[in-house]
Order: sequence, then structure tokens, then C-alpha cells
Amino acid sequence: MLQLQRLRRLAGANCLLRRHSATWRSSPQNASFAEVLQLEDKKLTGVVFPLQGLERYLAPGVNTASFRTFSPSLDDIHRAEALFKPSGRHVIDYFSSAVRMDHAPQLSQPEVCFVGRSNVGKSSLIKALFSLAPDVEVRVSKTPGHTKKMNFFKVGKYFTLVDMPGYGYRAPQDFADMVEAYLQERQNLKRTFLLVDSVVGFQKADHTAIEMLEEFGIPYVFVLTKIDKASKGLLVKNVLEIQDFAEKHTQGCFPQLFPVSSIEYSGIHLLRCFIAHVTGNLPMMNS
Ligand code: GDP
Repeated sequence: MLQLQRLRRLAGANCLLRRHSATWRSSPQNASFAEVLQLEDKKLTGVVFPLQGLERYLAPGVNTASFRTFSPSLDDIHRAEALFKPSGRHVIDYFSSAVRMDHAPQLSQPEVCFVGRSNVGKSSLIKALFSLAPDVEVRVSKTPGHTKKMNFFKVGKYFTLVDMPGYGYRAPQDFADMVEAYLQERQNLKRTFLLVDSVVGFQKADHTAIEMLEEFGIPYVFVLTKIDKASKGLLVKNVLEIQDFAEKHTQGCFPQLFPVSSIEYSGIHLLRCFIAHVTGNLPMMNS
């Protein structure tokens, strides 16, 4: 509680600074953690820890231990945000694209990649993660039949984020050609984020991706997108189904899933912190 009060005081000062600078640059509401810290407690929990925010909608006796597998302090979340904010020497930017693995840039820093069906909300999520670096251009290719690319974003010297082509009915070949080769060959890949739409749940193509990740022994984590669109009942149902699936049928999947809304910024701050953690940029004691 004390920590929250101290952070809120600090955040209040930051918000004043932000209001001053809003004339030349503004980012969407709740994009920065300082703003989130101004929310009242219940709202704050829902935005920062959306899984924990769902607990009050669960039937009594439901085991929620896996909801807190990754449970950083507010301080950790605050510290992690610095990675996603550009400054003089910390440059965050689009780096390059590739359509084949032999065109992929040779980068030795830790890497994370984002995969998911077309339309799952991948570009929106990457934009939300980078919302504090408004100069970063997240390129989107939505034209059917147009070759999709792997897009590499460098986050200073700390890590690379890779946006993989969306899979599904529009681009089955891109997925086989690019994603499979990337997953098999990329030595510095630390974690794959597999996006699932919270309204429609798992689809057949998601299971194909899961099989591939399991077969290659790649560590991955589920991200449940567009949670502002799903009713609480549907969200709880899909969360419990996916957590249950992860626990019983997977080896390489992180037991906790990450629900996000790229519109309301729910889960975005926690996800930034998890990325900082898995890329070795935020050592923490209890995770
Ligand atoms: P991609 O094909 O996976 O890159 O998907 P996009 O990011 O382009 O999103 C597909 C559609 O879902 C777009 O119409 C987005 O506006 C919408 N969308 C993405 N994320 C969210 C979200 O968090 N909430 C809501 N309500 N809509 C979203």
C-alpha cells in the first residue's frame, strides 16, 4: 500500500510534466504507467492485472494459482516501462523486414516474437506496446495475396521484437515458409507470444501453431487479445479453458496467460514487464 502511495505521488509529478509536454506530443490515455497509477484501486487492478481483476467473476473454489505465476511489484512494472520509452541514447525503431530467413538481420541481442491469426489484433498490440515511442512505425500489410514480412524492431541495445506474418486462411504459405523456419533457426529467440482472440477463443490454426511450438520445444506464452470486446462471462470461460489447456496439454507454454486490450491498455503494462523479464532486462526475485 505504501509502495502504491509513493508511486502515485511520483506519478502525479510525471503527469504534470506530461500535461506540459502534451502540446507537442500526446499518447493515448493509460498508455503510460504514471497515468494508470492515478486510477482508483479496483480500476487499477483491472488495467494492470486483468487476470486478477477477473477473479471476482469466478465460481467459488476455482483454482487461480496460475493467475499469479508472474506477479511483479508495481515498482518492477514502473521500471520495465523505461525500456519502452526512447531517450537520447535509447533508440527504439523499426529496423528491417525479411521475407525469408536468410534475409533476416543477424542480431545477437535477445529476441521476442509475436505470432497469431490474421486479424487477431497483433499490429494493434505492438502499437500499444510501443505507444510511448510514437515515432515507431508498425507496418501493416493487409492486402490479401500481398507477401507478408517478418518485421524487426530494435529496442535500443536491449532486445528485438519481431512481428511475424499473420496465419490463417489468407496466408497459410507465409506461415509455413517463414514462421516455421524462423522458430527453428533463431538462436537468440527468448519467447514467442501466441495471440488468441478473446471473443472467438482457440481456432484450428492456433492449434497448428501450438503443435509447431511444442514440437520444436520453443518457450511460448498465450496472449488473449481484445478483452474489452468480450463479455465478462465469455472472457472467464475462455481464460479458464486456455489456462486448463496450457496446464494439461503443453510442455513449453508459460502457465499464466496475458489478457490485453490495446484500446484500453489493460494488460499492456504487465506485458511490457514480462518482455523485460524474459529478455533478461529486469531481474526479479519471485518469478
Ligand atoms: P492483425 O491483423 O492481427 O494485425 O490485427 P489488427 O491489429 O489490425 O486488428 C484487427 C481488428 O481488430 C482491427 O479492426 C482493430 O481495430 C481491432 N482490434 C485490435 N485490437 C483490439 C482491441 O484490443 N480491442 C478492440 N475492441 N478491437 C481491437
